[in-house]
Amino acid sequence: MTRALAQQTDDTIRAAEVALVGVVQSLETEGVDATTLARVQTLLRLTVAKLPALDSVSFYDRKGHGIITSRTQITGSFSIPDRDYFKHHAGSQDRDMHIGSPVRSRTSGRWIMPVSRRVNQPNGFFAGVAVATIDLEYLQEFHNSFDLGRDGTIFLLSSRGKIIVRRPFSEAQINADASKGPVFQTYLNKGKEGSAVLTGYIDGIERMYSYQHLAHYPVIAASAVATMDVLADWRRETVRVLGAGAVLLAVLGLLGRKLIQLIGEREQAQRELRKAKTSLEKMNQSLERLTLLDSLTGLGNRRLFDTVLTEEFDRAKRTATFLALIMIDVDYFKRYNDLYGHPAGDACLQQLGETLMEAACRPGDVAVRYGGEEMAVLLPDTDVEGAVAMGERFRHAVLTRAIAHGGSPEDVVTVSIGAAACLPDQDDSSCKLLLQSADKALYAAKAGGRNQVCMAT
Ligand code: GH3
Ligand code: MG
Ligand code: MG
Repeated sequence: MTRALAQQTDDTIRAAEVALVGVVQSLETEGVDATTLARVQTLLRLTVAKLPALDSVSFYDRKGHGIITSRTQITGSFSIPDRDYFKHHAGSQDRDMHIGSPVRSRTSGRWIMPVSRRVNQPNGFFAGVAVATIDLEYLQEFHNSFDLGRDGTIFLLSSRGKIIVRRPFSEAQINADASKGPVFQTYLNKGKEGSAVLTGYIDGIERMYSYQHLAHYPVIAASAVATMDVLADWRRETVRVLGAGAVLLAVLGLLGRKLIQLIGEREQAQRELRKAKTSLEKMNQSLERLTLLDSLTGLGNRRLFDTVLTEEFDRAKRTATFLALIMIDVDYFKRYNDLYGHPAGDACLQQLGETLMEAACRPGDVAVRYGGEEMAVLLPDTDVEGAVAMGERFRHAVLTRAIAHGGSPEDVVTVSIGAAACLPDQDDSSCKLLLQSADKALYAAKAGGRNQVCMAT
């Protein structure tokens, strides 16, 4: 952009210079008689009409009074003896083109930059000054056609660091001294063209500046975009991405919290389920126990006996140990019922149950109510003598209880007991044999006069 700017400024000044070449040539070679002036005036009008950058081209005599101009109308005074560029040419033999500081034109009232040359008489004396004025508004229009963002700037500096024109336009800044400004200082230090991030001394805005000295004239063109404007798009995009990220993070956070909550709830449910399961299992166990107990005596029932008998028989088989069984039958119990009533009979059975539990004291012993007033005790790892000893212990315990029985010759409740034992072999039938043997022994005890323990043969 700065290059385009420099090129355009260079071209504009060159146009002014070219226009001057023709005027100076004609006036110096053909003189300033009326015919020549009229012809040159026409030439000026045609030239300026073709060059929109030029405000006017005029010729002033050696006293600074206007002689001819491309302008068709003159509003103000048509003389320039006090202008710096006029004084410069009047006092110097120099034939080079001179670029003056911007001034407000007296003839048109517009801001212009004068480009001028000295015109000599044939004898070399001063004849006057030819001036082409560049319209600053034309330059401004070109400068304004660039998109520089809100705080961008464009300006032209003279080679002495004075502002020629600046965007944004302000009359007060025309000819202002910018030689201490950062751009001119950078130009002085770094050479004819360059770029830098600088803070403008007029408005304090940080910008990315780029400047270039014109190829043919002592003017520096510069343009700059505010750092904020350059980064604005990036900043907008960043804010948008950050915003979207934050929203996403919030959603993830909420989902995560919900998930943790759900996991917590599930674990709680599982804990409760486990608790329920444990208490259910406990209930099942006690239910199971209940189904295996006799409700009247608290001893095991027949179902328990059948299960345990098979289990213990198998175990004895595996471990090659004895399994003993005693069968117990209450003596004259029918009579007891008849004498004291059935509920008293039940109470008697309860007492006998308690007594039996106390007598069958080893942990492995299983005492059950076998049916009616018959009881049985399974004695693992016990031979027949051990079984007899246990039977005797129980028989004595019953006697000690001394439950009155008017229908018994002993006057107290007694029991008859048959004891048997086996070393189980591979034959399952010995399980039945054990039962039969105990039963036979019990029968023998009855036959032998009751209140006694008989051993199976
Ligand atoms: P034995 O000395 O020959 O055994 O004479 P017994 O009268 O005891 O004869 P048996 O064993 O045949 O009689 C069993 C009696 O036990 C029959 C029944 O009235 C009584 N009995 C059985 N079960 C119960 C019970 O649950 N409660 C009560 N009160 N009596 C029962
Ligand atoms: Mg009986
Ligand atoms: Mg009986």
